[in-house]
Amino acid sequence: MAGIVYLVGAGPGDPDLITVKGLRYLRQADVVAYDRLVHPDLLREARPQAERIDVGKAPGRHRYRQDEINRLLVDRARAGKTVVRLKGGDPFVFGRGGEECQALAAAGVPFAVVPGITSAVAAPAAAGIPVTQRELAQSFTVVTGHTARGGAGGADDLDWAALARMDTLVFLMGVAALPVITRRLIAHGRSPATPVAVISCATTGHEQLVLGTLADIIAEAAGVATPATIVIGPVAALAREIGPAALAAPAPATPALWARTPQQPVLTFAAPAGMEAGA
Ligand code: SAH
Repeated sequence: MAGIVYLVGAGPGDPDLITVKGLRYLRQADVVAYDRLVHPDLLREARPQAERIDVGKAPGRHRYRQDEINRLLVDRARAGKTVVRLKGGDPFVFGRGGEECQALAAAGVPFAVVPGITSAVAAPAAAGIPVTQRELAQSFTVVTGHTARGGAGGADDLDWAALARMDTLVFLMGVAALPVITRRLIAHGRSPATPVAVISCATTGHEQLVLGTLADIIAEAAGVATPATIVIGPVAALAREIGPAALAAPAPATPALWARTPQQPVLTFAAPAGMEAGA
């Protein structure tokens, strides 16, 4: 009896933001291998007897190497198990889901991908930032800030000249690299007055929205919690208009699948004078 591996996107934070299909597979799983950013409440949805494996990698402290995760998925499936590989956001957005699929394909193990709501779009949306908006942004670009840190000389492999021309830039894993990101974009011609939003712990109930410009966001966002998504471009300024209402909306009458303690989101709006949507 051959098993199967489902790569399931868990969504950006709020456990309610998993897809119906993803939840259905999670409830059937014999094995759940999950990442660090997956909400613990989601794991309660798996069957009590399901094997739960925390393959989460704390920064700098790798608990499972990627090849070990690949092998684990292959071994469990070959043992006839239904395996759910639960990943934050969407499995293929900076989630190494592609590498896992390559390993499964090479091993001849059946697998399927259940897309998830990526934080690249959901974090801005929940904070009142549309990544596209007529007359402000016809495109958005999702970039990893991980490589932007570069080595001692600050070298990295991003095309900053191209990035500086994009309508909306969304950086994931970018908080540590924020000084490099802002400096490089300004050096490549982006206006220092360009609006920037940092959205931390989006959709979790203790999210934080910090709004500033390329010139002042480093000071404004100092000490912001991770995970955080950075949005750069004129649409970020819309958070001032849309954000407070978007974040403060009362919960719907329909109860969430999971009981959660409601908390107050924090909004920090910096430098109102220097910011223009057209910058
Ligand atoms: N596959 C995931 C991204 C993995 S990379 C997805 O599609 O969402 C992890 C990065 O995602 C974090 O460094 C952060 O930039 C972003 N992120 C994840 N959860 C987030 C959240 N709740 N709020 C803001 N950003 C988040």
